[in-house]
Amino acid sequence: MQLADEIKSCTKCALHAERTQTVFARGNPQAELCFVGEGPGADEDAQGFPFVGKAGQLLDRMIAAMGFHRDDVYVCNIVKCRPPGNRKPEPAEMATCVPYLREQLELVAPKVIVALGATAVEGLLGTSGGITRLRGQWKLYRTIPTMPTFHPAYLLRNPPAKKEVWADLQAVLKQLGRSVPPAGRSA
Ligand code: URA
Repeated sequence: MQLADEIKSCTKCALHAERTQTVFARGNPQAELCFVGEGPGADEDAQGFPFVGKAGQLLDRMIAAMGFHRDDVYVCNIVKCRPPGNRKPEPAEMATCVPYLREQLELVAPKVIVALGATAVEGLLGTSGGITRLRGQWKLYRTIPTMPTFHPAYLLRNPPAKKEVWADLQAVLKQLGRSVPPAGRSA
């Protein structure tokens, strides 16, 4: 994707200074389902792909429980460079990077977006506020139905919250007109 090449040389915000490389996306660029996270961590910065660390492995299990292969869906982040020490991206960094995401989502044109965690919700929808309050309720990113849910890194710290995420992902399957796979279960 040409956009990915453009982003590789981006120096529009301070995050470029400490990155190993930009992290654009993984998966199917024609996917009907897109997951958006916060930003690359250490593993993603090293490998150049989003959600390849521990949280990513859990995300892959969530994707499998929905009846998809990890490469069937599209996965990306609000910011494309790793915030040092895995801190949350600053509002100005998000505002600088979000136009890239907007272009990226225009190209992919998914039927449904899953926003993983409060930062993804903030970057996509401009809504700040507790993810506990926001999750499970459909929103619109431009014209695309968007489901806020907990970030997989949060689930690693709070496994009981997987129950809520599974309910959100079942709502996503329903929106896509897909049935819950018989083997589908909480990841
Ligand atoms: N967390 C994120 O939000 N994105 C990644 O790519 C990895 C971990």
